[in-house]
Amino acid sequence: MILRRLLSASNPLGIFLMLAILTSLPFHSWSQGERAAGAGIIDPSRENALRIKLPYPPGNSYRMIQGPHGAFSHDGFNAYAYDFRMPEGSPISAVAPGRVVRVKQDSRQGGKDPAYIDQGNSIIIDHGNGLFTQYLHLQHQSARVKEGELVKGGEIIALSGNTGYSSTPHLHFQVQDATGQSLPCAFLDVPGTGIPTLYRTYESQNDGMGVSPYAGESAMPNDAFAGNGLKIIRTNLSAHALRIDKRYTLRGRCTATPAPRQVALYLMPARGGKPIVSTYAHVDEAGYFTCTLDLSSLPTRSENWSETNDQSNMFALALAPIRPDSSFWSKYSIQVTAR
Ligand SMILES: [Zn+2]
Repeated sequence: MILRRLLSASNPLGIFLMLAILTSLPFHSWSQGERAAGAGIIDPSRENALRIKLPYPPGNSYRMIQGPHGAFSHDGFNAYAYDFRMPEGSPISAVAPGRVVRVKQDSRQGGKDPAYIDQGNSIIIDHGNGLFTQYLHLQHQSARVKEGELVKGGEIIALSGNTGYSSTPHLHFQVQDATGQSLPCAFLDVPGTGIPTLYRTYESQNDGMGVSPYAGESAMPNDAFAGNGLKIIRTNLSAHALRIDKRYTLRGRCTATPAPRQVALYLMPARGGKPIVSTYAHVDEAGYFTCTLDLSSLPTRSENWSETNDQSNMFALALAPIRPDSSFWSKYSIQVTAR
């Protein structure tokens, strides 16, 4: 009975809040972006965490037209991104080995208007240790890799384009964590500090040599939902690519007081909205809970489910406290794919 109440849930206010806040859109999720941007200077330990080369083939040269904290669009989640101007159709290379965890290439739309933000084609590669790279604004149907594939450093993964929120044909590149927050980075083949300077042109030497090896699939970080007052103690959830034939468990603890009596773990559309698949767990007197998530019904419940791995099925994953009135919403969600 409780379950039914929760499913019908989400009273009008709850739904509104979910639609408004649940997403982890760069332009809506200020608090995380500001925290990172507030760090200000380059973090040397982060720089060393992933050794990379420029995201295009050796010998090719492109001008860097927007860097970290760039005024046009590099704030919040995109704060530490680099834009390289290049003609549409230019080959894009993986900056280091990894596994492809997201491919979006079905969009033909783009322009200098934030309304296009969902229309950007992109590829995300998991390099392990919670570090990912994202390649954005790619040309329609230009991906040369599929979700789940292992790629080598320097491998051509797609062609550049002008899809999404973009003022001119270019590649938007960033190193990011599991939440999608971009991180400071440096390139082995950029002379000097490795940090590109605005409006300079950089010739790639990305032959795949000397870059970080693939460190294995990144796990969901324990603080992924700390902003919701919930800490993960133990889980077999991966950070980005989920499997519908796998059973996920999550052991967690409530850090906010008073602790809620129940929590919800759920998948919703990538831009937020009503839960598509959800599970609920009772919170014990000490504040602990255990959730089990079964995603096997996802293909039938999702709109536009893609069976092929040349286009990812994109969702947002959230772990949130359930309020006394049975509504729930998540301030922080994690973008994931499922197959
Ligand atoms: Zn950009």
